[in-house]
This record gives sequence, C-alpha cells and structure tokens, in this order.
Amino acid sequence: MALKLYNTLTQKMETVQPHHGAPLGMYTCGPTVYDFAHLGNFRTFIFQDLLRRYLKYKKTPLLHVMNITDVDDKIINNARAAGMSIQDYMAGYSDAFFVDMERLRVKRPDIVPYATQHIPEMIELILKLRERGHTYERDGSTYFRISSFAGYGKLSHLDRSTIETEGRVDADEYSKENPRDFVLWKARKPEEPYWDSPLGPGRPGWHIECSAMSMKYLGETFDLHCGGVDLIFPHHENEIAQSEGATGFPFVRHWIHSEFLIVEGERMSKSKGNFYTLRDLLQQGYNPIAVRYLLQSVNYRRQLNFTFDGIQQSQAALQRVNDFLLRVREIPSGRPENPVFDERLAQARADFEAAMDDDLNVSGATAALFELVKDANPLLERQELGPLNRDHILDFFSGANSIFDVFQIEQRELPDAQIERLIEERAHARRERNYRRADEIRDLLARSGIILEDTKEGTRWKALN
Ligand code: AMP
Ligand code: ZN
Repeated sequence: MALKLYNTLTQKMETVQPHHGAPLGMYTCGPTVYDFAHLGNFRTFIFQDLLRRYLKYKKTPLLHVMNITDVDDKIINNARAAGMSIQDYMAGYSDAFFVDMERLRVKRPDIVPYATQHIPEMIELILKLRERGHTYERDGSTYFRISSFAGYGKLSHLDRSTIETEGRVDADEYSKENPRDFVLWKARKPEEPYWDSPLGPGRPGWHIECSAMSMKYLGETFDLHCGGVDLIFPHHENEIAQSEGATGFPFVRHWIHSEFLIVEGERMSKSKGNFYTLRDLLQQGYNPIAVRYLLQSVNYRRQLNFTFDGIQQSQAALQRVNDFLLRVREIPSGRPENPVFDERLAQARADFEAAMDDDLNVSGATAALFELVKDANPLLERQELGPLNRDHILDFFSGANSIFDVFQIEQRELPDAQIERLIEERAHARRERNYRRADEIRDLLARSGIILEDTKEGTRWKALN
C-alpha cells in the first residue's frame, strides 16, 4: 500500500508518490534562530523526521531541504541587546538547535540553506514579481499586492473578508495599500544589516526566503511542503502567491501541516512564556529519548498536551518494550519454533504498516507493537518461542525503530565499568548523607538512559536505550 497524507490545499487524503521517477522533493520551514527552540518547535521537527523516515522505510527516495532564518527583527534586536554581531549571535543558537535535534535523534535534512546566503536569489525573485506587475513600492520598501494574485487564499480556504481580519499581521510599520499586502523587501533602517540591490538598499522579508530557497533546490514545482498549522496563513499562503506569481506554475503539490503542542489548553510559545526547552528537561534528569517518544506519540493532526506525567508514561512504555526485547534476545538456539506465532507477527506487521500508511497514524502503529508484546510475553514465559521467532520479532521491531528511533534493539555496548563506578560513588555519597551528589549522579546516568533501581540487595541498573 502507498502512504496517504492529508493535503491542506485540496482538503483531501492523497497518495504521496514521486513524479517521473525523480526523488520526492520536501521543504520544511526551519527555525528562526534567535533563542533556543522549545518543545513545541521540536514536536513539528520530530513529525517531519517521522515522515522522512517512513518514506525511507517504504524505499521512496527523498530530497529534504530545511531553511534557517538568520535575518529577522528578533535576531537583530536580540543581537543588539547582547552587544554581539548578528553572525556570532545567531551562530550560537543555530549550533544549539542542531545539538538538540541530534539529542532527539532528528536526522539532519539533506540541504540546510541559510537565508543570508541566498539574498541574490531573493532579489531575483522579487524582480520577476515586479516585472509581472505583482508589486509596488512605498518609502523604499517593496510589497506584494495580494489583489494581483487571483489564487490568494486557496491554501487557507479563507474568503476575502476573513483574510482582511484573520491571522498574524506582519509587524512592519510601513504604509501599505491593503493591510494584508506583505513586504518583500524592507527599506534599509539605520543600524540594521542591509544589502544593496536594484530595489534599493534593504533586507528581505521573511516569506520571500522560503520561496527563493525551496525553488532553488527543489525546482519551481515540488512535492511536499511542511510546517506547523500557524504557518498556513499568512506564511504559506504568501509563499504560494510569490512563487506562482513569479513562475506561473503550481508551486507545491502536497501541503502538510502539523498541530500544536499545548500546555493547559494553550499553544506552547515563546510569547506566552509557557514553554520548555529540551535543555530544561535534561537538567531535570529526563531522557531525551522519552521526550522524542512523547512528542511523536500523538497523530500529527491532533493537538498534543504536554505534561511531565506524559514523559514519565513514555519512559515506562519504552521500558516495557525494551524489557521485552531483552527477553527476546535471550531466546536460546535449540528451542522449538512456533509457526503459529509467525502468522501473528505477519498480522502485526500488516496492522503497523496500514496504520502508518493512513496519514501516519502513529497511535495505531504503536498499538500494533504493544499488542504483539502482550501476546508474545506469555509465550516467552512458557519458553514457546524459538530462535527463528526471535529473529523475526527483532527484525520487525528493528523496522519500526528505523522510523521511531526509541527502542533498544541490540545489546547495548556500554562502558559498564564506568556505570558501576558511578553507582558505587553514589552509594558512598548516600552513606555520607551527601544526597546532592547522589542525586547528581542519578541524573547524570539518567541523561545517558541509565535508570537506577534501589533494591534490598543493592542498586541495579537498566539501560533505557
Ligand atoms: P519558528 O521558529 O517560530 O518559526 O517555529 C518553527 C516551527 O515550529 C514552525 O513550523 C512552527 O509552526 C512550529 N511551532 C511553533 N510553536 C509550536 C507548537 N506549540 N507546537 C508545534 N509546533 C510549533
Ligand atoms: Zn517558510
């Protein structure tokens, strides 16, 4: 079966498939690097990683491009406040972003273009729009006139009157013919970075970045474009207007938007102050793999409520699967096979793939894994699974893990001696009533996925991942 995903543009479920044998082109709007990304941002990036990995699982070739917005009002203001150059300021947050992405096991996109390195492409696109009569100039800034593009509103499905009142208005102070017209090129302001151009000295608006960079690397028409639902309007609507306005060709075939991570009913966001960074959670001793598990556990088109209880439950769910896999690995050769179980496994695989093909229904796919664990556990108990059953189970989980990347499929190669040494040091610290040090060591181990269990016989440890 082929993967079907909901398309915001057509409001239908549609099959995702390459055209003319070329790899699928996928563009995802990347972060604005003015601060650490929060867990809401990472929900979106983990979803995109999941999509990418599932396409790979299905052997569909893909070229993934994600931009970095490195020139914007917030970056300029924050850099100035910190007394740093924009370049130095943003480089720190851009590096931190990729460190966090790696901790969450999000694969790096194939191409990561930075906005400031594509200014000529943006200028060229704006000049094309000017030639085709889509722009006007005010006080040195160039704007897109939305009334010049008949398809404006086709992605967000808003009618003209709603367009006038809904969505995030660009924070520019410049005068415009219509409040929804958006800036393509901002006139130079004192003490702000600027580039000389036939449009006058200035810097690009945010929307034009994505049109210029996506088309540069993926062509005038490409397959998949992703982002959070807040980007549908106006950002993606504007990308369509700019790109189709300039080329006359359809811009993107399939638009995919993921829902918010929320906290107590409200979207997690910087401006509301209700956000956590990955760093906050690591400091509290949470495991990044459990965070990944949590953030990918709910279907992307449904909101996900963030709670600490949710991370604990994720940790417990992971432990259940990893304990199971450990016992499966221990099935010795020579034990009789169970042919009926292989049929059960084939069913689990079919259920798993059917769920994933259905708009990446992660809950359905995870249920297929957990049902299998439930059915296999008593057989393991009674020693009724053989080495071939073992290999087949591990193969199935290994395939699922190539997408989720949270389970422990193989025996972990651990610097055991180091762990034992830390556990001893912790025991010593506790005897000395140095609980601060004892907790520190527990947290340190937790960050590497090592969970401690204090029993009467002493401390046992388990590798979560
Ligand atoms: P930004 O750096 O604000 O442009 O956001 C980067 C990505 O994170 C965009 O695709 C946003 O749609 C997404 N995003 C922002 N807030 C949330 C949230 N609370 N939940 C899920 N995704 C979000
Ligand atoms: Zn974008």
